[in-house]
Amino acid sequence: MATKEFPLVPESVAPVKTKYRTICTQIPVPESISLLEKLRDLESRSMGGQPPVIWDRGEDFTIYDPYGNKWLDFSSGVLVTSSGHGRPEIVKAIQEMAGRGMYHAYCFATEIRVKLIEKLTSMLPAPLKRVFLLTTGSEATECCIKLARTRGLQIGGKKKSILVTFENGFHGRTMGAQLAGGSPALKSWLGGEDSRFVQVPFPDGFRQENIDFEVFESSLSEKGINSDDVCGVMSETYQGCNATLMPKQYAQALRKWCDEHKAVLIFDEVQAGFGRTGKPFGFMHYGIVPDLVACGKGLSGGMPASAVLGTDELMDMYGPGEMTSTHSANPICAAAALANLEVIERESLVENAAKLDPVLADGCRRITEASKGKVGHWAAIGLVGALQFIKRGTSEPDPESAWEMVRQAVQKGVMLFAPVGVGGCAIKINPPLTITEDALLDGLSVLEEIAGSLPV
Ligand code: PMP
Repeated sequence: MATKEFPLVPESVAPVKTKYRTICTQIPVPESISLLEKLRDLESRSMGGQPPVIWDRGEDFTIYDPYGNKWLDFSSGVLVTSSGHGRPEIVKAIQEMAGRGMYHAYCFATEIRVKLIEKLTSMLPAPLKRVFLLTTGSEATECCIKLARTRGLQIGGKKKSILVTFENGFHGRTMGAQLAGGSPALKSWLGGEDSRFVQVPFPDGFRQENIDFEVFESSLSEKGINSDDVCGVMSETYQGCNATLMPKQYAQALRKWCDEHKAVLIFDEVQAGFGRTGKPFGFMHYGIVPDLVACGKGLSGGMPASAVLGTDELMDMYGPGEMTSTHSANPICAAAALANLEVIERESLVENAAKLDPVLADGCRRITEASKGKVGHWAAIGLVGALQFIKRGTSEPDPESAWEMVRQAVQKGVMLFAPVGVGGCAIKINPPLTITEDALLDGLSVLEEIAGSLPV
């Protein structure tokens, strides 16, 4: 999906000066235009699409530009800065590690790596007690795919190589991750189907009304797939494009099905992990434990770090040096991640996400009502919400209105990211987990006001 760019033409906007938001210049800021133009000229076009604001400094759930403006951040920089921007504890951990002269160690042992993996394994239930640290979310999901395929090969031979994933799912932008993704438009570049990657409907009760597990089985048989040829099933715990969990019963039936067919159950927790949904991990809503979990984003609070956690059996399949990544367990990233996880625990941020769940849900409901049909569907869980924009009176997606909402929100001091590629026309609301009820309500009321004024 081609995404629109925000025009680099300064617009006079009403000044804003509240506890959490300050807008005191034209937007975009005239002095920022030459910088923004350089980015457009020198980078791949794919880096564009976001609101024309220079991020200069972050403080908890606010973002500052260099020109005196301040935004209430509803993006967490794409669901990463769960413990807030500029956390002193994370800054200190980074500084200390760099100050020691230790900013790279490859797979050579470091003490910080021990501390981080101990922390991680203490957060997950048995049998998810073995860790492989990586750098990006896509690397983590790719690794899960590799482990599932390898195990399939070991126990069932070449034919046990089918990975089942879900329609509208997202697992990253590298090749395996895109094959596993469920948006056909994102994989057209692959130039054809791979019969070993199969998608079934995600039981969201919205795009897919029948949420019974029987749909999973019937979809496989409609596609002529022998269940015993499935090596693994991978799903986001909540679908990122619409902030919806699968029904608990469905997840439990899926666990049972994977056991019966010796398929590896993988949850992609890259978005959901570390408290976003009001539980430490999204799968904890289901009362089951997967065989592999892919983590990223909120793991480190901002530095590039990701992880796969899995069972002994799966994590022992590859021997020393057979599964590596140059920057895995980077000492600075590991130190930042440990500091971030400690903040999340010490400040009960998972509990804060659970506490604010009804506040966000109510806000999404109010925005939907105010939009008089422009928001066709909303969903929220913990501190992530999604508003799907449609053309009034139809079920057709309306990217223009979603984009307009972002544009106006940024002009009023609420930072949202533009809907890009994934999931079409949903706007996501996902502030740092440190946000207070007062600040959340403030930002939601801005969005409600905009929703009420969207052009027909
Ligand atoms: N899985 C999910 C559920 C994601 O949301 C993302 C990123 N949006 C990824 C995987 C890929 O992570 P990364 O961009 O760090 O490669």
